[in-house]
Amino acid sequence: MVDLDVVFLGTAASMPTAHRSPAALLVRRGSERLLFDCGEGTQRQLQRSAIGLPDLQEIFLTHYHADHFLGLPGMLKTFALRGRDETPLTVYGPQGLGELFRRLQPFVGRLPYPLSLVPLEPGERIERRNYVIEPFAVEHGLAALGYAVVEEDRRGASDAATAEALGIPVGPERGRLQAGEEVELADGRVVTPGEVLGEPRPGRKIVITGDTAPSALVVQAAQGADLLVHEASFAGEEAERAKETMHSTAVDAAGVARLAQVRLLALTHVSPRYFGPELAAEARDVFPDTVVPRDFDVIEVPFPERGAPRLVRRGGKAGSTGAGGGLGPTRAEVDGESAGVPMIEPS
Ligand SMILES: [Zn+2]
Ligand SMILES: [Zn+2]
Repeated sequence: MVDLDVVFLGTAASMPTAHRSPAALLVRRGSERLLFDCGEGTQRQLQRSAIGLPDLQEIFLTHYHADHFLGLPGMLKTFALRGRDETPLTVYGPQGLGELFRRLQPFVGRLPYPLSLVPLEPGERIERRNYVIEPFAVEHGLAALGYAVVEEDRRGASDAATAEALGIPVGPERGRLQAGEEVELADGRVVTPGEVLGEPRPGRKIVITGDTAPSALVVQAAQGADLLVHEASFAGEEAERAKETMHSTAVDAAGVARLAQVRLLALTHVSPRYFGPELAAEARDVFPDTVVPRDFDVIEVPFPERGAPRLVRRGGKAGSTGAGGGLGPTRAEVDGESAGVPMIEPS
């Protein structure tokens, strides 16, 4: 059972297509549900998913282009209509959050539950039990943030041979040492956890860029991440457009992943003219461990000693067994999404 994963609810750039919804992804960590971006139709994507539409308590916006927040007013209204009146909701985002909500106010109206708006600056850490959420600056031509979800180091694993050598009996003493407590043995000796536990083991790190040109700031923030979710609006044939609009190509994103030495790169914010596999192919020339999730795909992020991050195709779809996947889409898996639609400026 993996206790950390990412559900891709919307993987389109700019506008919805028949198979891709605009930006939204859900990080599930234990019982926590963190929504990043809320493009148009996000509430319905959740309803159609195996998750349903939970009374989300935290929503993180990367920036205020319409394809990243248009789903908010409807979702906030639905919460109200369902009778939510106590559970608080906090929305985080870059500078300009208050202004965004002043504009949305006529549509949202009065809400019966507490709503907090928390504008964030890059580097302003949100501390949680056992992990932090760190916003970082990206380059998209306006106030825009990426987010890193970073777990604390975990205690080292206990070494059975060392415990044996120290004469610690098999039983509750060993459990208490693993839990970080000192124990006193029958002969009066006191053993500290440091004597039997190995080096601290790293926690996990998920980094979500939102929209951005390839950036050294992202390389820095994503250093050693288990999973980097990077936008890849374009293929290489549109490198010039990517530059002009401060977006990334698949190869740009792969370059960032390679420099940051992440374990898995997931490309999202896919322009309507692409299927996905062509972006994956371009990126893999630079960074082999690349996937291009579709809506309702899930990436599981186990602790490193339990395996690599893994793409589960349709893992978030209602009725899905959660099985399947393996890295890498094949042609046969490609939906019948239509290519060659008129070009729209990704935003
Ligand atoms: Zn966008
Ligand atoms: Zn944008």
